[in-house]
Amino acid sequence: MAQLDTREKLAILADAAKYDASCASSGTAKRNSRDGKGLGSTEGMGICHAYAPDGRCISLLKILLTNSCIFDCHYCINRKSSNVRRARFTAQEVVNLTLSFYRRNYIEGLFLSSGIIGSSNYTMEQMVEVARSLREDHNFRGYIHLKTIPDADPELVHQAGLHADRLSINVELPTAGGLKRLAPEKDGARIEGAMAANRTAIVDNKDAVKRYKSAPRFAPAGQSTQMIVGADAATDGDIVTKASTLYDRFGLRRVYYSAFSPIPDASAVLPLQRPPLMREHRLYQSDWLMRFYEFTPQEVVAAADDATGMLPLDIDPKLAWALKFRGSFPVDVNRAPRELLLRVPGLGVKAVNGILTSRRWRKLRLDDVARLTVSIAKLRPFIVTEDWRPVVLADRAEIRPIVAPKKQQLELFAA
Ligand code: SF4
Repeated sequence: MAQLDTREKLAILADAAKYDASCASSGTAKRNSRDGKGLGSTEGMGICHAYAPDGRCISLLKILLTNSCIFDCHYCINRKSSNVRRARFTAQEVVNLTLSFYRRNYIEGLFLSSGIIGSSNYTMEQMVEVARSLREDHNFRGYIHLKTIPDADPELVHQAGLHADRLSINVELPTAGGLKRLAPEKDGARIEGAMAANRTAIVDNKDAVKRYKSAPRFAPAGQSTQMIVGADAATDGDIVTKASTLYDRFGLRRVYYSAFSPIPDASAVLPLQRPPLMREHRLYQSDWLMRFYEFTPQEVVAAADDATGMLPLDIDPKLAWALKFRGSFPVDVNRAPRELLLRVPGLGVKAVNGILTSRRWRKLRLDDVARLTVSIAKLRPFIVTEDWRPVVLADRAEIRPIVAPKKQQLELFAA
């Protein structure tokens, strides 16, 4: 590997980390102050934004320890057979970088992942050493998210949890067949075994902390995972079902969905085109339906097209479900229980809570509901209020043009 300075390594290893969606980044125009004019830059390498457990948006240094890897997962730009420029940080270099970014107030924490070098245990040891040194040698109190390696010794993964706020293990693909085909060196059973061990440690630790205030914390921000969308033939139904199983079995905080993006010198087993980004967005919406809107996974899957198993791209899954199951509507906002109100397209959790509070004192009229929502026109076919009952707009074909978002003409010469 050629000798590279820290800045060159950072450019390579921050760019290589961008394929990991486990902490969401936001995009903006490129600006910098290298010409001596102005202050600040939006091109700082490796800085991304994530949400802390209390909902705060925090900046993280998001990098790989190395982009070299002994595995050859077909979808990964860092795979052994890939022709990319390689770089590697030492554990001490990552510690120094994190501290210097932190002291300059660029970041509030670290997201660290890695290709596998030498062996899974050796790589995991290096990552644990980064977290250990930050916490013990430098008393670093910022956020640390470590991507762990499922094949590593469980004791090393446990050590990672004692220093990190969040652990994550990528499940990679929604089906066992997809994993076998695209990441043949990975073992689905080991991935799930490592998640199960983390779950046990997290639950035990919560119990210990309740009893002894001084008990050391283990991954207090929980664990998460990521699934690649569109690299194999899995349908949205398969993905929703897999995600719900992972939430149930391993108590995950989040499942992240990452639309597969074609990589240079891609393997022939991969599709040539990336899936529409809207597919990733619809999967995040379906995830919200299960986590916050009390939909069962079977109900979300039922919103998908029966023939293809795919969620519609032009409307959100909640509206798709409502149009498919017209018999569940209209919902009387003055009488319906919370779970039925949550099914009404256009009513969010906050609006439903507002309705439940207001209706204790008086019967709600259409105007009252309108004040709690963005578009009452889209809601009208699905609700009954003191002064409103939909009678004419009874069936799906008539409703769809009213409630679906208007199609937009793309501009040929848009900037
Ligand atoms: S183990 Fe990770 S870094 Fe290595 S090829 Fe597979 S996905 Fe890429």
